Amino acid sequence: MGKAIYPGSFDPITNGHLDIVRRAARMFDEVYVGVLINSTKNPLFSMEERVSMLEEVLEEYDNVKVVSFDGLLVDYCRQNDIHTIIRGLRAITDFEYELQIAQTNRVMAPEVDTVFLATSLQYSYLSSSIVKEMAMYDADISKTVPESVKAHIQKKIHART
Ligand code: ADP
Repeated sequence: MGKAIYPGSFDPITNGHLDIVRRAARMFDEVYVGVLINSTKNPLFSMEERVSMLEEVLEEYDNVKVVSFDGLLVDYCRQNDIHTIIRGLRAITDFEYELQIAQTNRVMAPEVDTVFLATSLQYSYLSSSIVKEMAMYDADISKTVPESVKAHIQKKIHART
């Protein structure tokens, strides 16, 4: 099915993201996991740290590549001959925003389509912000992120406090 890109902030990658990547990797020949550089959010991890955590976790997938990009996602798609954007849907609250973004992208680039993957039930509550909040209060985050990411989060949060 060609190439697809799964864009996001991944601050940091959670088991919910990982589940989407794993499923996308079965559907597409090549999956780019795209870390957005110019996010308006104030991230916990730098772009380099987010990329390196993703690379560590996704190393075992031969057809998955971690990239970072600045500017419009559709421009990146055009430059790299990518025709599919993958996004995950957790709940109805994601829907309105995601639909708006997908429609905007199609107005700008009609040749690029967005495919939504419904989250697996056990991850539907998960977001990077929830994980960071849990870690801030020393809650157990073992079920929410891969082991290597857990260590990075704890190190970062303890360095801050
Ligand atoms: P963004 O800042 O672009 O929303 P995120 O890193 O928060 O980036 O999320 C990237 C994508 O992953 C989004 O499509 C989001 O809906 C999806 N996603 C996040 N958490 C989950 C989850 N637990 N299950 C499925 N999809 C998820």
